[in-house]
Amino acid sequence: MPFTSKFPGLGLTIFSQMSALAQETGAINLSQGFPDFAVSPGLLDGVSAAMAAGHNQYAPMPGLPALRQAIATKLQATQGIDINPDTEITVTAGATQALYTVIATVLRAGDEALILEPAYDSYAPAIVAQGALPVRVSLSAPAFAIDWDAVNAAISARTRLIIINNPNNPATSVFSAADLEALAALAERHDLLVLSDEVYEHLVYDGQPHRSVLAHPQLASRSFAVYSFGKTFHATGWKVGYCIASAPLMAEFRKLHQYLVFSVSTPMQVALAQHLADPASWQTLAPFYAAKRDHLATGLQVAGFTLLPCAGTYFQLADYSAIRPELSEIDFARWLTREIGVASIPLSPFYADGRNQHLVRFCFAKREVTLDAAIEKLAKLA
Ligand code: PMP
Ligand code: GLN
Repeated sequence: MPFTSKFPGLGLTIFSQMSALAQETGAINLSQGFPDFAVSPGLLDGVSAAMAAGHNQYAPMPGLPALRQAIATKLQATQGIDINPDTEITVTAGATQALYTVIATVLRAGDEALILEPAYDSYAPAIVAQGALPVRVSLSAPAFAIDWDAVNAAISARTRLIIINNPNNPATSVFSAADLEALAALAERHDLLVLSDEVYEHLVYDGQPHRSVLAHPQLASRSFAVYSFGKTFHATGWKVGYCIASAPLMAEFRKLHQYLVFSVSTPMQVALAQHLADPASWQTLAPFYAAKRDHLATGLQVAGFTLLPCAGTYFQLADYSAIRPELSEIDFARWLTREIGVASIPLSPFYADGRNQHLVRFCFAKREVTLDAAIEKLAKLA
C-alpha cells in the first residue's frame, strides 16, 4: 500500500549511522554516547536478586515507591530540595520517553516550542509529532553562550514551552547562575513551561555546581526535569529514567504516561532503589569522568585537534580545521572512521541548517585501554 510519510524529513539518527559505520569498519567507537565499561557488580547482583525474589510483575504506574523515595532523598542531598515522591516523581522508560511524554502532555497543534541549537536530536521530532512547531535559537562555538535577548525575541503568543539541556549534549556547556535567572524571568514574563533535560546532572566539572531548575524558586513550579539512570549508572541499555514536576504538572504527565508505557521494569527499579541509596554511587562520577576527559584531550591535541572547553557531559568537542579543513563535518567524521579507525559524531545534524563549524564530538565514557587505542590511531594524523 502506498503510504505518505508523516515525517518525510526524518532518517536514521546520526548516532545510529555512526555506530553502524564504526561496526562495519571495525573502528573504535567514540561516537554514540555509551560507556564500554561494566555496570557496578552490586547493581547487577541487585537485579538478579530482585528477579529471584519474585519482583517480576508490573510495578505501580508512577514507579516503585522505594525508588521514588531514593530519588527524593538524593535530590535533598544534591539540590537541598524537598520533592514529594508520591506526587512529583514518575519513573520512565529512559529519559527519551520522559521527554516525549512531557512534550505530548503540554503541546497542542499550532503551539510553538523553543529549542536551543545545537539541540539533542529527539526534541524537534517529538514537537512536530504533536502538530506543534519547533522554533530554534542558535548558539555558536566555542562557548555556546545563550543570548537571552535572542531567545526573548523568538517568543510569540503561541509559545508554550522552552526546552533546555543542562549540561548540554552536544555543546558540553552548563548553565551559569545568570542563565538560570534569565530563564526564570523569561518564563514568568511569557508564562512558559520549561522542559529541562538534566540527564548529565552529575557530569559537571571543574568545581561548578549543577544548577537544576528544580532548585530555583520560580522555575520549580513551571518545570519538568528529566533524568536517566542509563547515563548515571553506565547502563544505557536498561532504559530507565524519571521525570520530576510539581504535583499539578505531574498529574497531567501521568495521564499520558499510563497509556504510553504504563510502568517500567520492576526488577531494575528494585535494584536501582538499593544502589541509589548509597551516595557513593553518584558522588564519584564527576572526578571519574574528568580524568577520562583530560586523558582523551591530551591525545586529541597531539593529533592536531583544537579542543573546545568541556564543562559537562561525557563528550569532548574538537575542531579539525588544522587537519582536513575542506571537509564538511559529516564527511570528516566518516573519513576519520574509515581511514583512521576512530568514530565520532559531527555537530551539524544538531542544527536545522546543518552549518559547518568544523566540529566533531568524541565520547570519553570509555575504558583507559579504549581511549589509549583511539589515541594511538589518532596520532597518525599528527
Ligand atoms: N537527553 C540527552 C541530552 C541525551 O544525551 C540522551 C542520551 N542518553 C537522552 C536524553 C536519552 O536518555 P535515555 O537513554 O535515558 O533515553
Ligand atoms: N544520547 C546518546 C548520544 O548523545 C545517543 C542515544 C541515541 O542513540 N539515541 O550519543
